[in-house]
Amino acid sequence: MLTCKEFLAELTDFLDEKTDADIREKLENHLSLCPNCWVICDTTKKTIEVYKGSMKTCTIPDGVHTRLMAALERKIAAKKL
Ligand SMILES: [Zn+2]
Repeated sequence: MLTCKEFLAELTDFLDEKTDADIREKLENHLSLCPNCWVICDTTKKTIEVYKGSMKTCTIPDGVHTRLMAALERKIAAKKL
């Protein structure tokens, strides 16, 4: 289990989809167990989305597509296991 300090150190990479799969899993695990970090993560994510949205208002941000694909891949992988 990660500490909050460790979680926050990885948060921006996590939101940018830059973390390795094993670290990502630990971060998601921490998120599901720690309401404080969940709020921080959610707030940071929204801030980034607003920032990105102001940069390119007419297209779907790349990050959304990446997240959707990652979620789909996880679902597919889960079914195979
Ligand atoms: Zn925490």
